[in-house]
Amino acid sequence: MIKLVILDRDGVLNVDRHDYVKSPEELVLLDGAAEAVARLIRAGKTVVVATNQACIGRGIVPESAVLSVHEALQQRVALVGGMFHKIYYCPDAVDTPRRKPNAGMLLEAMAEFNASPTETVMVGDAARDIEAGLTAGCRSFLVRTGKGLESETLLKEKNVTNYTTYDDLAAVVDILLQ
Ligand SMILES: [Mg+2]
Repeated sequence: MIKLVILDRDGVLNVDRHDYVKSPEELVLLDGAAEAVARLIRAGKTVVVATNQACIGRGIVPESAVLSVHEALQQRVALVGGMFHKIYYCPDAVDTPRRKPNAGMLLEAMAEFNASPTETVMVGDAARDIEAGLTAGCRSFLVRTGKGLESETLLKEKNVTNYTTYDDLAAVVDILLQ
């Protein structure tokens, strides 16, 4: 039984920008993403975000701006009845235990919301999301939005195969709630 759903942010919930989402004005949700979150909430799941935001560590976007974007993200999903129980972000610009592909943020979420690896799923559009999910022992889903298509190729090259791919978050939620 799935209890905790951990979502990557850029490319899963909102349009990924090569120059980072720097303000709420630049936050553009992907079609159906907010509704998919709302369906998980209505089904009683705990839903969190785990996002790398190296733009903070690199000095490109102030942490306060990232927090405003997260507030806006909460408001957008709330409009359709969704919410995030917590938004974890990693400001580090270099490899650290919290920064995906490492599993730090996922392990924090599982501890905080008391979910075992078998009760947890990870959804992302990047190879590092899938790698973090598998390291944490969670079922991992790649979505074809965002960087998804290039990530499928990258994961194949890395011989990572124990994950499943769906078109978008709504399709993953269909599977989780069926
Ligand atoms: Mg992403």
